[in-house]
Amino acid sequence: MNILNKKLKYYTKEVIKYFNIAIVASGIITIVVLFKYKPIYAVSISDKQIGYIKDKTAFEEKIKENAVQEGKEKNLDNVNIKTNPQYELKLVNKEINTNENEIAKTIEKDIVVTYKYYELDLNNSPIDLVDTLEEAETLVNQIKEENKKDDLQLSILEKYTENAEEVKTTNIEVAKSNIQTKIAQATTNTKKEQQTAKVENNNTIPEINGIKLAYTPVKGVISSRYASISSVRNYRSHGGLDIATKIGTDIKAVAGGKVTAASYQSGYGNIVKLNHGNGVETYYAHCSKLYVNAGQQVQAGQVIAAVGSTGNSTGPHLHLEIRINGETVNPQKYLYK
Ligand SMILES: [Zn+2]
Repeated sequence: MNILNKKLKYYTKEVIKYFNIAIVASGIITIVVLFKYKPIYAVSISDKQIGYIKDKTAFEEKIKENAVQEGKEKNLDNVNIKTNPQYELKLVNKEINTNENEIAKTIEKDIVVTYKYYELDLNNSPIDLVDTLEEAETLVNQIKEENKKDDLQLSILEKYTENAEEVKTTNIEVAKSNIQTKIAQATTNTKKEQQTAKVENNNTIPEINGIKLAYTPVKGVISSRYASISSVRNYRSHGGLDIATKIGTDIKAVAGGKVTAASYQSGYGNIVKLNHGNGVETYYAHCSKLYVNAGQQVQAGQVIAAVGSTGNSTGPHLHLEIRINGETVNPQKYLYK
């Protein structure tokens, strides 16, 4: 029993002794190694080592920071190092120097930075650019609220570019003022367009059944409207429009056509009747003189008679009738509006 105990003690002592030796030895080796070597990162591109750096994370951050154009940090979307460098932690001789700047320069050539910005469009045409989506949304909401227009076509477009020069954003207040100006201009333009359209409408030549009424027969004062009732006409509805003007005033054909009558008729007095085709006829009554004959072809605007007061008339005027398929229509639907 005693012998066994003694032996166990002996072996335990021996193990502890060797263990201590091992610790001391590894300590000495570590000191020697650290004295001569240091841990650094070897950098390789396409399996080719290009140098050493001290700290991988700090190095990459620095490169990315340098790649982003100054003042465009807000617009940074992504930094892509195309060469995809490989880092390997190594123990190398302390004599070896790191070459961070050199490596950075090599890598920088292959860095692609993508920038992001937001375009504000009014009615699908770009007005201004801002840095962030938050800014763009704030702006759109503010403008919509201030203008109280539901039909305001204000939209936000997300844009990407690799060219920092394209990121020509303005600050939110400037953008707002630019948009407000454009809205005001757009409103004015719409009004102008409407006015122009109205003028053009007035200038549009009236048409009946494809017959253009290009000429107003005379200028004057409307003295009796179509369908008015008067004792002068024995209380029958007026079939034409009376335009009062000086006796002898030229009467022009509203459109080209064939003269179907140029004679004296009771009630109408001296009258010219024109057939323009497509069932459209015009009558010019109470004339003082007739310049055309039945069967003759006349041009639009041609002088066909002179204003008078013949027939059932109380003063010099032109009685103008427009007929479609024999039925009178209101001349003011087309002329003297
Ligand atoms: Zn009349």
